[in-house]
Formats: sequence, structure tokens, C-alpha cells
Amino acid sequence: MNNNSVATDSKFSGILINKDEQGYHASLQQIDDSLLPEGDVTIKVLYSTLNYKDGLAITGKSPVVRQFPLVPGIDLVGVVEHSDSADFKVGDVVINNGFGVGEKHSGGLAQKARMKSEWLIPLPANFSPKQAMIIGTAGYTAMLSVLALEKNGVTPDKGEILVTGANGGVGSFAISILSKLGYSVVASTGRLDESPYLKSLGANEVIHRETLSSPGKPLAKERWAGVIDSVGSHTLANACASTKYGGTVAACGLAQGMDFPASVAPFILRGVTLAGIDSVMRPIEDRKEAWQRLSDILEPSVFDDIAQEINLEQAIEAAAKLLDGEIRGRVVVNVQGE
Ligand code: NDP
Repeated sequence: MNNNSVATDSKFSGILINKDEQGYHASLQQIDDSLLPEGDVTIKVLYSTLNYKDGLAITGKSPVVRQFPLVPGIDLVGVVEHSDSADFKVGDVVINNGFGVGEKHSGGLAQKARMKSEWLIPLPANFSPKQAMIIGTAGYTAMLSVLALEKNGVTPDKGEILVTGANGGVGSFAISILSKLGYSVVASTGRLDESPYLKSLGANEVIHRETLSSPGKPLAKERWAGVIDSVGSHTLANACASTKYGGTVAACGLAQGMDFPASVAPFILRGVTLAGIDSVMRPIEDRKEAWQRLSDILEPSVFDDIAQEINLEQAIEAAAKLLDGEIRGRVVVNVQGE
């Protein structure tokens, strides 16, 4: 042992995805250190999360995983166990969101991970490791989307903001952040029975997602000053068509579909801006800005409202439920938990 590493066991628990003669399968296993990918920082993972993309990776419903065998989990928070980087030392608590982790580089749904130091940011001071993972890529993407509205001049006095996919991770955090910033929020959901939850997060009104999910007109009555859309397809097209003159639509997801059956009318006749949001390859400075704003804005109580905690053993079943729309808010995975 030296001062840039601590001694660790050579096997650790984790979910491993493989593709072989038996097909595509994910299972909880004892994983050998030798399967850790290349990187200059080795981390004892404390918490990970389940995002929509993790659901796709674990179930194999979409070709998210591009290298086998692979540990899924696009998010992690953990303690540095070994570092060859001048930026991080043993004992630092770090987070990693995206950068292809959980897709082509083994990720957070295991007790140990190895990352490139340029992907890591220190845990923001105001958050516990668990809170950082309740936020995870979903909360950080919601924040990037709100920043896009702000940067395009959508201030609270401009009018209502539509949030689609409201009960999901991105949607829940978007409602909470917007409400705290003083915006009037309209939440679109397929689960109207969850209206009390959405209102407790700060939604002023809840509408059924069926009002947005079918083919619509190129232009509709102007209603939204801004939109945060995690759904795509006709929902995104209808959201653009009903955005007010000069408004902005932040497009970050595809829960309904990857297609975009729209016309250019909202853009060329109403000056609507369509802002694309990518969290995966986002430069590190934008990440730091988003995490700083999250730590300035979020109330501690939001974490209890939004999250449920599971362990690694429960993660595979939970991934299928997430894709079936049976999960509300965020699932945080206690990776070291029994
Ligand atoms: P969740 O599974 O937590 O939430 C998705 C929500 O979308 C559901 O809760 C549901 O909300 C709604 N939904 C599901 N199916 C449909 C459908 N067929 N039609 C309309 N609405 C539907 O996922 P996340 O919040 O983690 O992610 C949301 C989306 O954002 C995903 O597509 C994900 O890939 C994308 N994403 C993109 C990122 C980026 O970098 N651009 C980063 C993170 C996520 P309700 O029950 O309220 O209707």
C-alpha cells in the first residue's frame, strides 16, 4: 500500500451484462478486478441510480451497451481508492455522470469502478453522496434544460412552462427546480392519479399526456413560454406548435419516440427556439455550473419526496419496472447495501 492507493479485495459485487450463446443477459455476480476498464482513478462506489438509459441497458430493449461484458450504471458517486491523477487523491468523494459510462465503459452498478479523471467532478459540498445520486443524470439533465430556458430569455414573468414525462426522473426534477425559481409549471403525465405528488413538487396544473401525444396541427393556440420535453415524437411536435412567440423548447428525451413529426412553422413564424440537451458529452465546465445551480436551488426535502432506495440485488427487476412506467421519480441504488 502507498499514499495514492488503499488495499482492496480483488472481487466485488456488481451487475454484469453479457451477450453470448445464451443471448443478452444481466445478472448480479462476483466480478474480478481484472474486468475493470482502463482509467487513472479507482473508486469504491457508494451509490448509483437507475436512469431510463440504464433500464434500456439492463433489459437489452435498446442497443445501449456497446461493449461486453459491461457493468451498467451511467451515474456513480464514490470514494477514491487509488489515483494516478494530480486532481484527485485517496479519500476524495467524486461523481461521474455519462461520458459513455454504462454504455461502452463499465459503470456504477458495482461496488468498484475505474474512471478517467477528466470525467470526474468533486461531490458538491451541499450534497450527501446519496443525494447526489438521487439527482443523478436525470436531475442534472433537468438543470441543463432549465439553464437552456434561462439562457434564451425565458423568465418566470413570460408565462407557463410545460414539463412532459412529469413523473419520470427528469420531469420530477424539472418541476421542482422550475417551481423553486418562481415559474408557473404545467405537468403533463399519463398518471393523473399522481397529481398530488406532482403538485407537491411544485406543479401548478396537471394535464393528461394524451392531449399532446397524437398527431397535431403545425401551429396551435400559443400557450407555453417554455417547454422541457423528455418524451419526443408527437408530444415534442405539439409542444413546439403551442409555444408562444419567442419561446424556447428544451428537448432532452424520447420516452414516446425518437421521431419528430413536426413542421418548421413554429420556428419560422413564431421565432420559437428548439434547444437540444445532451448530458453525456457535456463539457466539464457546464457540468460544474449545473451542479452548482442544483446545490443553490434544491430544498433538502425534495430528496425524500422524489427518491426510493434499493440495493444491487433489486436493481434488475427495478430496471424493467422503470421501462414499464411503474416507477415514480428516482431510484437510488445503495451499491454497498445488503
Ligand atoms: P423515466 O423512465 O424516469 O421517465 C420517463 C417518463 O416519461 C415516464 O415516467 C412517463 O411519465 C413518460 N413516458 C413514458 N412512456 C411514455 C410514452 N410512451 N409517451 C409519453 N410519455 C411517456 O426516465 P428519465 O426521466 O430518466 O428520462 C426521460 C427521458 O430523457 C428518456 O427518454 C431518457 O433517455 C432521456 N434522457 C436524456 C438525457 C440527455 O442527455 N439528453 C439524459 C437523461 C435522460 P408519466 O408517467 O408522468 O407520463
